[in-house]
Amino acid sequence: MIYLDANATEPLRPEARTSMLEALDECGNPASVHRSGRAVRRRLEDVRERLASRYGARETEVVFTSGGTEADALALHALGSDRRIAIGATEHDAVRAAAPHAVSIPVDRQGVVQLDALEELLADGQPTLVCLMLANNETGTIQPVHEAAMLCRQHRALLHVDAVQAAGRIEVDLAALGAHSLALSSHKVGGPAGAGALVTSPEVSIIAPMMPGGGQERGRRGGTPPVAAIAGFGAAAECDADGPRLSALRDAIDRAAIGVGAMVCGSGAERLPNTTCLALPGVRSDLQVITLDLAGFAVSAGAACNSGKIGSSHVLSAMGLEDVARQAIRVSLPWNVRDADVTSFIAGYCAMVAQVGPIGERRSRPSRAA
Ligand code: PLP
Repeated sequence: MIYLDANATEPLRPEARTSMLEALDECGNPASVHRSGRAVRRRLEDVRERLASRYGARETEVVFTSGGTEADALALHALGSDRRIAIGATEHDAVRAAAPHAVSIPVDRQGVVQLDALEELLADGQPTLVCLMLANNETGTIQPVHEAAMLCRQHRALLHVDAVQAAGRIEVDLAALGAHSLALSSHKVGGPAGAGALVTSPEVSIIAPMMPGGGQERGRRGGTPPVAAIAGFGAAAECDADGPRLSALRDAIDRAAIGVGAMVCGSGAERLPNTTCLALPGVRSDLQVITLDLAGFAVSAGAACNSGKIGSSHVLSAMGLEDVARQAIRVSLPWNVRDADVTSFIAGYCAMVAQVGPIGERRSRPSRAA
């Protein structure tokens, strides 16, 4: 199987495996006062310091969570409780479900959030928490988060950034972005699932935890932390994807797909180097995913809900691409993809189009990019 579904989860990095195995061999609860507890605590605090320096924060501002979903929910819960919440129209369900009454900020045809709409919203002076993703999980579109942060600051609004897909693929630095908080997830950077973090700026504090529990994480998130998973997270977070190599491979896929009549959604925007969203007009996403699966390629539909069913993509609909919202697949290259994997995928994709698409008809149409 050639695995091209990194945005669902990245393969475990060897550095993460080594750190986890070391941590698993150490017994102790970081809250215990004895020597064993203190040793585990040191490991936890070491990761906290390294994550803080990696993501432009101070170590006291890193709260460990179970993953990206919890980090987003904690930010919305703690920073948005007395505020109106406004979210980008293409946010992940982790954010949409945690803020069901949020005002939606529209995006353009490339999936880029419309800053004039954000400015108009903030102009009424209502205390607001804005939530934007740094990079979209389906299309890879990168949002103008720094510009949005400047607008938020002008209007005394807070900005939470979902950096789950951006981390490890492009630079993520809370201070440089000018945002108030960041959500991160271990398994999207090549660590294990089960760990993540909410990183905050010194201007805000998490006073109202979602889970008070035993007061762990300085009262911001109760529960015994999964130290081995956090150790793996810390080690993986120090690795960077090879952006130029991945984007060259991604561009080769795009060229081949356009050549057989596909449309590359969001190709006019700055995108993550590893991600592309290919829509094949007239061919359902599930048919494409299953055909590619049978041919040995793991990719996903633009949107897959947790029941495993393939639905219509709210991301593509928000971009005005309603027509192809059920006809797109996401190809997301993992950190360890080989050039030969991409060569095979290109052949497999073209064969899939020949098998399930009305290729004769499409060949006579001009190719398009969206
Ligand atoms: N935010 C984005 C943009 C995501 O893509 C995901 C997962 O796909 C999440 C949040 C949720 O992260 P986790 O799987 O760690 O809960």
